[in-house]
Amino acid sequence: MVRILDLEKYAEENNIPIMEHDGIEFLLNYIKENDIKKVLEIGSAIGYSAIRMCLLDESITVTTIERDEKRYKEAVKNIKEFNLEDKINIIFDDAFNVELEDTYDLIFIDAAKSQYIKFFEKFKKNLDNKGVIVSDNLKFHGLIDKENEIESRNVRGLVRKLNKYISFLKENNEFETVFYDIGDGISVSKRK
Ligand code: SAH
Ligand code: MG
Repeated sequence: MVRILDLEKYAEENNIPIMEHDGIEFLLNYIKENDIKKVLEIGSAIGYSAIRMCLLDESITVTTIERDEKRYKEAVKNIKEFNLEDKINIIFDDAFNVELEDTYDLIFIDAAKSQYIKFFEKFKKNLDNKGVIVSDNLKFHGLIDKENEIESRNVRGLVRKLNKYISFLKENNEFETVFYDIGDGISVSKRK
């Protein structure tokens, strides 16, 4: 039988960037306290966060999108192991190709860091009026304030894009965002 700890171990050994402990605890608490039932996740990886959210309560469902085939297959396997096939709808595609009709109580953005503004803009139409958009990795493993010290151009570019996302959230007319220095940095955005 596969357990949550096994997923954490697999992620560690295979360099899969699942949520950090404090981050996932924060997210799970938020879901409990705010009676969130219907979640959309961008970036499933191996299904870890989707499974943890679903295990909170029988009434919670998650739709989750993953574009990497190997991770997608691993996620499908894990979802089966936890008997959550009826609760988790996993879509194998690039999120930018996915058109959803439904609305969700919570949209969790945890995918390519360079595209956060685009994910936000694309999926906000799928957010319930009272819903929230939660984003992970806003500290980018502690690199977010060190843009000028980063040698890799690629990494510097990503940090710049994440900083743009943070400004986009701070200056947003439609959404009010609270930033939490928890895990790798989490934001919670609600319609004003
Ligand atoms: N939420 C997961 C971790 C996700 S890691 C957890 O905490 O358990 C980020 C994942 O997003 C990676 O597996 C990556 O392949 C996926 N991803 C990145 N950009 C994507 C996109 N445009 N569409 C779909 N998946 C994407
Ligand atoms: Mg993350």
